[in-house]
Amino acid sequence: MTLTQTGTRGFRAYTAKHLDDLLKRADFDAETRLRVRAVATVLPFRTNAYVVDELIDWSDIPDDPIYRLVFPQEDMLPAADVSRIADLLRGEATPGEIQAAAHAVRMRLNPHPAGQMELNIPRKGSEPVPGMQHKYPETVLFFPKQGQTCHAYCTYCFRWAQFVGDPDLKMASDDADGLVRYLLEHPEVTSVLFTGGDPMIMSAAVLRRYVEPLLALEQLESIRIGTKSLAYWPGRFATDPDAADTLRLFSSVVESGKNLAFMAHFSHPREMESELVETAVRAIRDTGAVIRTQAPLIRTINDDADTWAEMWRTQHALGMVPYYMFVERDTGPQDYFAVPLARAYEIFRDAYAGVSGLCRTVRGPSMSSTPGKVCVDGIAEVAGLRVFVLHLIQARDPDLVGRPFFAHYDPEAVWLNGLRPAFADSFPFDPVVRNGEALPLR
Ligand SMILES: *Cc1c(COP(=O)(O)O)cnc(C)c1O
Ligand code: SF4
Repeated sequence: MTLTQTGTRGFRAYTAKHLDDLLKRADFDAETRLRVRAVATVLPFRTNAYVVDELIDWSDIPDDPIYRLVFPQEDMLPAADVSRIADLLRGEATPGEIQAAAHAVRMRLNPHPAGQMELNIPRKGSEPVPGMQHKYPETVLFFPKQGQTCHAYCTYCFRWAQFVGDPDLKMASDDADGLVRYLLEHPEVTSVLFTGGDPMIMSAAVLRRYVEPLLALEQLESIRIGTKSLAYWPGRFATDPDAADTLRLFSSVVESGKNLAFMAHFSHPREMESELVETAVRAIRDTGAVIRTQAPLIRTINDDADTWAEMWRTQHALGMVPYYMFVERDTGPQDYFAVPLARAYEIFRDAYAGVSGLCRTVRGPSMSSTPGKVCVDGIAEVAGLRVFVLHLIQARDPDLVGRPFFAHYDPEAVWLNGLRPAFADSFPFDPVVRNGEALPLR
């Protein structure tokens, strides 16, 4: 096969223009390949040589979980949308016409869920601070400008809107000084979470420019990096030219007396099979960083208890700490990937019951929703009524953290907005008017 690969630092990426060639590794006819390409005009596609050659089992397409994790599926979008764009691709449509059609489909996919754009943008005076989110008092999220891509894109990514090039859907900043100034004005912040995209797409030198100024801040207890690099490009910590430099940066965070929390996103046990991952995990742990793991529960990719139990066990054996199981967010192709909350809870419980207590550091299934992280604790019968038992792990309003509340059981509900309060007229986070301002809390 002739594929032009692009990339730097030893890293080789494939993009939408390689898609047709890549799909020839599977047994698809030309029409199916065209429809998959049509989906890829709406949702971002990017993968790399490691994922394609080492992780995907090409003899098991389209069922292979890693294939489903990174390649668009033709049924991810409404068939009429796919047909319309496929016709444009087939015909003589201009790139502008194709982009316009793709944009129209995107706008129907709730590109910024959980009020991300309106509610969490910190303000200084009246000017919004771009590239930052401050939702929970103690944690600030920072989106470094050079970290807004990933080593590969997950088909279910809730940040997909950041990748598709609509400028008004992007949030990012290269203002490391602005971050420091903001933190100094907000001494309640004890943790900065670098996220993206994937911050580990940045070179060590660029990452250092953001991280180093934070080390002098007494108030910070931890610096977190949210990343899927261990799954998608473990060479980042082993074979890349600046792997050693990256690890030195991690060590310097630990030596400054702060916790470097490496938040590793693993979606499937397959992602941990390669020896390169073991080498990378060992190298990161040797810096004193702590690796915690998290992932969403995704239909057709990891929606069974054995998969999660195996993931947590492997992570634990390698010295990582299972942290969150997320519910797939209400954005993008949510209908395609959603697992009902009742089923999500069963999967979580069955997996949790099958692992040692040391793996039970994991919480979930958790919805990152507008009021906070809502955890489904169980399904119970209370006074003759079948209910979901829920609590907020994290909340915009810290007063609500850890207090149980109830919703009517609904086997179909996939998200908080599909739940109705039980034994109460409203949910604890429902009061709609605060400081004279009405907030759309759900
Ligand atoms: C999950 C999350 C955090 C971190 O929450 P922890 O419970 O401390 O891991 C911070 N900000 C946002 C917006 C989040 O979704
Ligand atoms: S690695 Fe994370 S940010 Fe990147 S595509 Fe996957 S879910 Fe999205």
